[in-house]
Amino acid sequence: MPIHYPRALLRAHRLHPIEVWGPPHVERHEGSRHFQVYTCDIVVKAMSFLRSGGLDVARAILVPHTCDALQGMGSVLGDFLRPDQRVLTLYLPRGRRTSDHDFLRRELGRLSQTLVDLNGHHPSDRDWAEAFEAEDAADAALADLYRRRAKIAVSDRDFYAIVRSREYLTAEQFCEQAGALPEGDAPHLGVGLMISGIVAEPLELFDQIEAMGAYVAGDDLACGFRRVYSLSAENDPFERSANRLLTSPADPTCGTPIQVRVDTLQTRMRAMGARGLLIYDPKFCEPELFDVPLLRKHLNEAGFPVLHVEFEMGDTLPHQTLSRIEAFVETLS
Ligand code: SF4
Repeated sequence: MPIHYPRALLRAHRLHPIEVWGPPHVERHEGSRHFQVYTCDIVVKAMSFLRSGGLDVARAILVPHTCDALQGMGSVLGDFLRPDQRVLTLYLPRGRRTSDHDFLRRELGRLSQTLVDLNGHHPSDRDWAEAFEAEDAADAALADLYRRRAKIAVSDRDFYAIVRSREYLTAEQFCEQAGALPEGDAPHLGVGLMISGIVAEPLELFDQIEAMGAYVAGDDLACGFRRVYSLSAENDPFERSANRLLTSPADPTCGTPIQVRVDTLQTRMRAMGARGLLIYDPKFCEPELFDVPLLRKHLNEAGFPVLHVEFEMGDTLPHQTLSRIEAFVETLS
């Protein structure tokens, strides 16, 4: 489950993560029996998917403590529904202090021990080295994609399809796909937007933005840029994994102070030529909602208009959502 987790640690334990963000096409009905009505689609639909057998292939379900909704999911699964898969939790600190670092290092050690119990494999030094080498290469490939975006000759939809393939491909497969993207000017015409939020679903959103005469100059998405981690080279694998997770870009689910988010967004928007911010959030996403009023106020003061849209995850985009985005783009033109 989203958003931040230690990929190299899983690999060293010979486990391959497949991320579940919804999925959008699944109905809420079955999952909604287990949560309050104001729970987001990512949690409710994932529960429906699980209950319908969609995750039967998995040995374990890792539920990081990203927000109250995911913590609730971890509790419902672990304490009440008890699926066949082992339910694992990971408590992520909300700060960047030394104590947060120490806590996360111990938390990762605890998770690692649980994985030994689950899989019967105790990673050797060689396993750790191989896992970090592969996952660091994939993290670097993702960072490089963002750095080179203006010189990659694919549409925003195709670009984000590759970015999001990190959610299910192996590190090697991801590096290969990222490296195969054609060089050349990005086909960007019209008004540049920064898109913020958790996940941009469905991918058709990017086609629609293009048809409105705009393009995505950059993102502040949990499924995208917020997972461009800094690399770390400590010998201790838990220290190294903790460093990676605690150097992620500004992110409301990690407790980034609002002023840091405002400053970071302003700087990136200026550098990328984005004229406005589209905050595109799944309905009922509390960590995102807490920040919206102050983000809007400060970015407006800095000359950046902000549109906040909440959506229900599905295979299609409602006309009302498209009309609001189109009107926003018109005001920026
Ligand atoms: S959409 Fe928001 S509330 Fe839902 S799981 Fe993601 S961070 Fe949590």
